[in-house]
Amino acid sequence: MPDPKTDLLSLPPDEFEAALGDHFAARNQPAYRIEQVRKWVFDECVSNVGEMTNLPVAEREALSAAFSFVKPIADTVSRSKDGTVKHLWKLADGELVESVLIPTTDRLTLCISSQAGCAMGCTFCATGWAGFQRQLTSGEIVAQYRASRRWALEHDYGRISNIVYMGMGEPLSNRRALHSSLTILNEGYGVGARRITVSTVGVVPGILELAGRKEQFRLAVSLHAPESELRSQLIPLENRHPLEELMDALVRFDRAGGRRITFEYTMIRGINDAPRLASGLADLASSVDAFVNLIPFNPIPYQDWKASRGERIEEFRSVLEARGISVAVRVPRGRDIDAACGQLRATRVDANAAKGCKNASGPLDDPDMREGLGASANSGEDPTEANLT
Ligand code: SAH
Ligand code: SF4
Repeated sequence: MPDPKTDLLSLPPDEFEAALGDHFAARNQPAYRIEQVRKWVFDECVSNVGEMTNLPVAEREALSAAFSFVKPIADTVSRSKDGTVKHLWKLADGELVESVLIPTTDRLTLCISSQAGCAMGCTFCATGWAGFQRQLTSGEIVAQYRASRRWALEHDYGRISNIVYMGMGEPLSNRRALHSSLTILNEGYGVGARRITVSTVGVVPGILELAGRKEQFRLAVSLHAPESELRSQLIPLENRHPLEELMDALVRFDRAGGRRITFEYTMIRGINDAPRLASGLADLASSVDAFVNLIPFNPIPYQDWKASRGERIEEFRSVLEARGISVAVRVPRGRDIDAACGQLRATRVDANAAKGCKNASGPLDDPDMREGLGASANSGEDPTEANLT
């Protein structure tokens, strides 16, 4: 049963203040109570009303009676040798979603999920194979940040500097919660818009909507193929929003100004790594001045594709560089903890799913495939820095 109370964490700062203003006014409480609660929620990221110790007990009880407070439970916390940390969160109804913290020398990036599962069915993605469970609320999206922020501070990871919507789900298929969560993270928690990246597989109306926002949130586009026919084999959405339409939308996003687009290109051996595709990719990237991330495919339990060989990835890189395109090749992160989003949940929820698949155990025994395992980061000027699905 959904909780009929208003979820405090789902409210953007202006609605948050209005709701608390009404609440405290009705209880004849001074207006400074709003600021007290605001600090506990947005600055301290407390996990329940009981922790708001400067409120009288009666006021804490009244707040709990009037508002709900999403509190994901950490089902599993896995910490990689390289410092990458993956949380598997259990939501109130038992759904599981993942977030990952990726520390690098000068940043701490958090990768968050926007849906439980995903309806897009991309053939190379563990989340896609597992299907769609439900939308996350903005409070559930924000809760991943709040809980991770507390975890990071308590474990000497420092402050989260960047957020990427590259966990489970397609953020532009959950637009209401996405937009609200962007506002809450930016205005409420003070994460700069240019430090927040929304990754999409190409939901054109959502891209145009994001272009219309005044804040300069960044956009990453999961391209994976520069030709429509090949792309439709990897991404079923290509049939609904073909490359040509996607590129038109990206030109408009680019014209909205001040925000660089990133192309994500997962390199799968023998599937989308033919040398001629590199120049097609260069054409598309130069038309919208996109930054390109080349990502070795992360093997998934559901089919037997492999990551492209290192030489092929380097060949792609040189073709792009020769065309003046900024490009980075990701190095795998967190390979020892299944840090690629969708994988931990897949192991936890669906332990038997791989058994019916051909070659289910093969990929993990193959050193070439291990190369692609895990979350990734790179040392280039990549504005998104992390990619975790
Ligand atoms: N749905 C959004 C965001 C989540 S996926 C999107 O598709 O963009 C985040 C990124 O991980 C995407 O670029 C996606 O294409 C990539 N990805 C998914 N499965 C992968 C795999 N097995 N190996 C490498 N990258 C993968
Ligand atoms: Fe969904 Fe992104 Fe995975 Fe495609 S790649 S199935 S859009 S999470």
